[in-house]
Amino acid sequence: MDVTGASTPDAPMIRLSGVGKTYPDGTVAVHELDLDVKRGEMVCLVGPSGCGKSTTLKMINRLIEPTSGRIEIDGRDVTEADPVKLRRGIGYVIQQIGLFPHQKIETNVMTVPLLYGEKKSTARQRAHELLDLVGLDPSTFGDRYPHQLSGGQRQRVGVARALAANPPVLLMDEPFGAVDPVVRGRLQDEFLRLQRELEKTVVLVTHDIDEAVRMGDRVAVFATGGRLAQYDVPARLLGAPADDFVADFVGSERGLRRLRVTPIDEAHLEPLDGVSTGDLAGAIDVDSTLEDALAMLMREDKSVLGVKRGAVFLGVLTPNGIHRALRASVEASA
Ligand code: ADP
Ligand code: MG
Repeated sequence: MDVTGASTPDAPMIRLSGVGKTYPDGTVAVHELDLDVKRGEMVCLVGPSGCGKSTTLKMINRLIEPTSGRIEIDGRDVTEADPVKLRRGIGYVIQQIGLFPHQKIETNVMTVPLLYGEKKSTARQRAHELLDLVGLDPSTFGDRYPHQLSGGQRQRVGVARALAANPPVLLMDEPFGAVDPVVRGRLQDEFLRLQRELEKTVVLVTHDIDEAVRMGDRVAVFATGGRLAQYDVPARLLGAPADDFVADFVGSERGLRRLRVTPIDEAHLEPLDGVSTGDLAGAIDVDSTLEDALAMLMREDKSVLGVKRGAVFLGVLTPNGIHRALRASVEASA
């Protein structure tokens, strides 16, 4: 199936309707799932181990067949597609990466363009572009073998290979799970930057709520038994959990997490008058998050923070203002 044509631009890129998976032994892995993913959107599936995240992902590219319901990509039923062709339009990144251990990095990435019938020279050039794209210098890393790379570098190769066919849809299963927290943060940042450029439709599975709210335009929280507990933007998930399960899953630190995902809102700034400059902690850029703002107030041990856009002073933010902005962000995204 050709999943590249933008036949119906407003239709969701991926639509799951009443999708279920019961394994032959009776295990209900996914229960009656309805989920839409918009074109260019990054959606995170998050939840405890065994709640059906990987099963859901693998049903989208037909590595697993659903036992009920319907899955459409770009308006077309995937069950009617040739699974091999379907998978070529969908990049797939997994934690164990699946690099060929006895092939050089360059060859690992070249595999995909070669599969499409590209000439060897073209495939090599494409592999180099992709390695560059994910921040690996092809002249340094191209000739190495997978075991000569760090976990984070191997993960980047996995992403490069998944992007090799330039698929409009990317499925990622715990892609940053195998690396230490510092490297994970860096890979997350890199991928967000890449995604802003490439605007793929991405479904990313993680068990880490921090990763989900950081990466996802929207986040689907799964509960045990493959039940979708809430599907929402991060601010609402953290600010208005749908039930006790979600509240518990997003954790008692959800207030702090909300600061991290909420941008400063110009509407919540106060004028500078009446503030003695001794209370002022300097000025932060309006594109920062509320967490950045609070961190700066704490660091400077002050109660008022200036907010600027470029050289233009916009107003000030106080701890009260931060609280108001948090509350408003949940209401605004309702
Ligand atoms: P997650 O990715 O959220 O950790 P999975 O989608 O891998 O969860 O699994 C969902 C449930 O389905 C789990 O209870 C798991 O044990 C079960 N499961 C997965 N694969 C099979 C299988 N082939 N046969 C029976 N049960 C399975
Ligand atoms: Mg899994």
